[in-house]
Amino acid sequence: MQNRTLITKKNLEEKVGETVILAGFVETKRDHGKITFIDLRDREGIVQCVGYKMMGEVTTESVVKIVGEVKARPEKMVNKEIETGGVEVEVKEYEVLSKAAELPMSLDTEGYEIGEETRLKYRYLDLRRKRMAKNLRARSEFVRAVREELYERGFMEIETPILSQATMEGARDFLVPSRLAKGKFYALPQSPQQYKQLLMAAGMERYFQIARCFRDEDLRADRLLELTQVDLEMSYVEKPEEVMEVVEEVVKGAIKKVGGKLQKEQFPVIAYQEAMKKYGADRFDLRSEKEKEEGILAFAWVVNFPFFKRVDKEDAAEIRDGKSGWTFTHNPFSRPLKEYEQDLMEGKNIENIITAQYDLVCNGYEVGGGSVRAHTPEMLTATYKIMGYSDEEIRESIGQMLSAFELGTPPHGGIALGLDRLMMVLAKEKSIKEVVAFPTTGSGRTAVMSAPTEASEEQLAELGIGIGKKV
Ligand code: ASP
Repeated sequence: MQNRTLITKKNLEEKVGETVILAGFVETKRDHGKITFIDLRDREGIVQCVGYKMMGEVTTESVVKIVGEVKARPEKMVNKEIETGGVEVEVKEYEVLSKAAELPMSLDTEGYEIGEETRLKYRYLDLRRKRMAKNLRARSEFVRAVREELYERGFMEIETPILSQATMEGARDFLVPSRLAKGKFYALPQSPQQYKQLLMAAGMERYFQIARCFRDEDLRADRLLELTQVDLEMSYVEKPEEVMEVVEEVVKGAIKKVGGKLQKEQFPVIAYQEAMKKYGADRFDLRSEKEKEEGILAFAWVVNFPFFKRVDKEDAAEIRDGKSGWTFTHNPFSRPLKEYEQDLMEGKNIENIITAQYDLVCNGYEVGGGSVRAHTPEMLTATYKIMGYSDEEIRESIGQMLSAFELGTPPHGGIALGLDRLMMVLAKEKSIKEVVAFPTTGSGRTAVMSAPTEASEEQLAELGIGIGKKV
């Protein structure tokens, strides 16, 4: 739309006495017979528009274009509740660009009281809510700040494939049938773990990606089927502290840019054993009641995790990954701390091996995790041997990593920050769904659209797939 003015205090106050073109949604309408008031909302703000003998038929949440004169309001009529309360727009002409029918839910509350099915079915409407629009804006600003911090430190943004091979990240994979190779499947990445390490083998030195990850897990308030990570990896890393230091700088820089308040300038580092003793968990909340009220962010690092644990017999992914009865606690690609290297190589003292893993926690949530990696074929092989893999199984599942390591790979380490969870904490929300534009429902259905849906006979035939009897 040409010559449109965005609704900000500055834009409108500069134009008092002039005619402007505004466009947006009708937030509210008050009809007083001859005179109609509407509050018009665009991406920046809200302003009151006054129409004489017009706009009577305009419905709330319709999209309208208004041509009108900006008028200063007399001192005693100034509306302190809204930014632009010092002015109003006297409508000369208007056009309804899109008429809204009766709304399936109200938008003038925070929306928590409305059922999830309705909110997600009409998510585009739900996102017009002030709180939701603010959350998405905050997310966008945070991502921008993170990107800036990373670019400043020499990181390069690189995309990795979505159609990929099943990796071991401790969750169930989403499989995608291949048409070209019938009977075979791609897996959606649970994280770009292997590709980012291969980028280190490629000499990229500092990689990052705002990465989509897919995990077919049972849903909880702080988990979705798709998640977004700030994923990074860096070369020439020998100790956990080297990655932790960079990540801490990036996180602090980005949080400050978006106006977040940190409890401590330097994040405390706590050993896993100590955290378990002190808090009974490896994620904990270090804030006082007062700090909770003030919306302070209390970050801390947790280090010195055991590398391996006994397989949980109830967990399908663990049973699959841990063939010997031992499986990794965090990441099979990690290296052990130097003093446990010998034990790992010899498969001894397994329960006591400590991994070079670090988790970042904030206000009681785990918001990130990473490690220094095994970068020699021997060390990675030793980890898989401990988990009971035969030589052939090792080749099948990580052969490509071993080859890369045989062709020269710098020592490296990295981390993934859970962007959704971090945003949930930043926005002081209780569910990650409040900071994701189109999250899945509690039963795994997509917002607005109704996937998963059945495939047609033709599609299935093309893929060489038959649906068996439901069990
Ligand atoms: N790939 C790991 C994860 O998604 C993070 C990392 O170690 O970089 O949890």
